Amino acid sequence: MIELDGSQGEGGGQILRTALALSLISGKPFCMENIRAKRPKPGLMRQHLACVQAAVAVGGGAGHTQAVSSGGHAAQVGETSLVFTPGKVCAGDYEFAVGSAGSCMLVLQTVLWPLVLADRTSTLKLSGGTHNPMAPSLSFLKLLAPYFAGSGPALFDMELRRHGFYPAGGGEVAVRVHPPVKGLAAINIMQRGELLEAYVECLHAGIARGVAERELATLKGGLGWHDEQLRDRALRSNEGPGNVLQAVLQYEHITEVFSSYGDKGMSSERVAHELVKQVQAYQGQQAPVGPYLADQLMIPLALAGTRGQRGRYWAAELTEHARTNAAVIEKFLPVKFALEPLSGGVLIALAP
Ligand code: AMP
Repeated sequence: MIELDGSQGEGGGQILRTALALSLISGKPFCMENIRAKRPKPGLMRQHLACVQAAVAVGGGAGHTQAVSSGGHAAQVGETSLVFTPGKVCAGDYEFAVGSAGSCMLVLQTVLWPLVLADRTSTLKLSGGTHNPMAPSLSFLKLLAPYFAGSGPALFDMELRRHGFYPAGGGEVAVRVHPPVKGLAAINIMQRGELLEAYVECLHAGIARGVAERELATLKGGLGWHDEQLRDRALRSNEGPGNVLQAVLQYEHITEVFSSYGDKGMSSERVAHELVKQVQAYQGQQAPVGPYLADQLMIPLALAGTRGQRGRYWAAELTEHARTNAAVIEKFLPVKFALEPLSGGVLIALAP
């Protein structure tokens, strides 16, 4: 039984999601105390419970995979401990609803790797939030999916049926997970190459008129971009209320996506300034992999490494999320991360 402390490092939900995914893959049970101890509302929230339930489902259902509190009762909202005993992963057609505006992309993050390593294609119908602060958005995962596969064919594709924003939720996504016929390939991302395209999209639904214009104008001024780089994407008003400003930087060897979310009481100008800061920080460096993608690539890097496919990537920053993720991954898989400073960023690889 692997023992995990959910308050270690970043102390957020990523520790739980990585543990669920790798427990299913490795067949090793785990127990975790202090779940999400460093978050304002610790313990399992609706979206984390949805991740636990999704992990149970892909592990063959409650008859094969068990998830209970350390007191022995079924995991529920507010729970701060979990004992997880995995069964065999089953490819299949699944539907997972977060049941709130919580991110359904985080549910995907939980079951993706077990299903990638399964013996056939799976389909997922996910509902909840598709564009949430503090989580990878659907746009991020869709555009960055190719990098998860290293040099291999895409491991999943996604179709957005409806956007979902906090607080209304209601987003819907269909995902197909394609296990790689030849196994996971090594990830090797060491340069950006030429900048091919840079643009910003303002997604907005059911919010005050003028917000998109002001956000795009502020971003244009802040980054010195041209009108052709600004995309106003008004969504159906019943998909809102919601607003996200997303910058996409497409280079020869990497695409990066940065987001800033509108919120009550937050000015359009501030939303844009937040994004300008993220884009400038990335453009002020040479490392190809931004801080959020760096986090997502750790599991596939490690999984490919366990089959002798040794990869590496150069990330702009070593976040607490990434450091914590490395520690959790090392508990489940026979790998050790080598995290070395490299020209203002960090080289992420596996130790020999
Ligand atoms: P946690 O805070 O532990 O629940 O984990 C949040 C997860 O969402 C981590 O995998 C982060 O890398 C990811 N994440 C947070 N913000 C963003 C963002 N703006 N873009 C992409 N991924 C994000």
